[in-house]
Amino acid sequence: MATEASTDRVIAALSRINYPGYQTDIVSLGIVEQVAAADNGGVVLTLRQATAHEEVMRQIAGEIHRVLTHDLGIKAEFRVHQIAAELGAATGRVRMADAAHIVAVASGKGGVGKSTVAANLAVALNRLGYKVGLLDADIYGPSVPMMFGIDNERPQGAGGQSFYPIEKYGIKLISIGFFVTDKTPIIWRGPMVMGAVRQFINDTVWGVLDFLVVDLPPGTGDAQLTLAQLVSIDGVVIVTTPQEVATADAQRAVRMFRQVHCPILGIVENMSVFICPDCGEPDEIFGSGGGLRMAKAERVPLLAEIPIFPEVREASDAGKPLTLAHPEHPASAAFVELARRVAAGMPN
Ligand code: ADP
Repeated sequence: MATEASTDRVIAALSRINYPGYQTDIVSLGIVEQVAAADNGGVVLTLRQATAHEEVMRQIAGEIHRVLTHDLGIKAEFRVHQIAAELGAATGRVRMADAAHIVAVASGKGGVGKSTVAANLAVALNRLGYKVGLLDADIYGPSVPMMFGIDNERPQGAGGQSFYPIEKYGIKLISIGFFVTDKTPIIWRGPMVMGAVRQFINDTVWGVLDFLVVDLPPGTGDAQLTLAQLVSIDGVVIVTTPQEVATADAQRAVRMFRQVHCPILGIVENMSVFICPDCGEPDEIFGSGGGLRMAKAERVPLLAEIPIFPEVREASDAGKPLTLAHPEHPASAAFVELARRVAAGMPN
């Protein structure tokens, strides 16, 4: 009979199998729901089918069979939990026909640089030659208008309820900030948030996009959860600062997205170090290595470490994200590298 040790061996072996088209393994993505010892000495695996594509599940099952039977000599029996059908029926996730890939940028708490990362990621993907849209769904603190220097401009109607995004620097932008004035306090109740976001998603005429980057509201509450279930997100990037309190919140965010079967692309540690402008020495203001420790604990990739540079904030405040304003800046290079990794982590 399979002992606990052999169950561990099975899980360790399964975590070397990547989800087809992703660089993240099937255990991290929550595809392996349960590994139980079977009476015949083998194991019974319960897999969550989080995709409607049968062939993807067949490919995963084939890989598992190869690894367990051939490499470990363990018999495996499969059970499949049809989570895709349940999710589809329960939430009616919106699959946007025009956007090839939807990447969400999330954080466990506010102020860690989530919007900065979302804006620079959008710009960096565009620099790599992709057509990019940026949906600022951070209802509580929309920052796209400021970061892209858009004042008093409203999206143009496209007939009926539809409207066109505002295009700036080659990126198509939609933000709740375009629909309210500075003086309007943005105190939204959950259902209004969802209504507004649903409207953004359904009524924006994006045109054809390679990537839609979604800047989610910070935190792990109902709004984030509902949003994650509303859109068919291809991957989530979770932004954290290195200190323990922030990584603990980010870890909660990882778990929340796993629960709703959104693949986690990885972690971005922002404000990693401060490079002294005089001596060039790094100063770890917020501690060090928190992002990496957390990424390891959750078995997700650490996608980037972005240092604190005053130029990052100055560029955002001046209405042109750093990656555009100063393409040669080391932080811009880090954002472009992040964009490369995000693009590489997308299903084909
Ligand atoms: P969030 O979206 O998580 O609330 P923001 O992206 O608005 O956070 O960032 C918070 C503040 O920190 C902003 O003033 C932003 O310009 C600044 N900031 C973010 N990342 C960096 C960085 N790497 N270096 C310097 N300032 C940064």
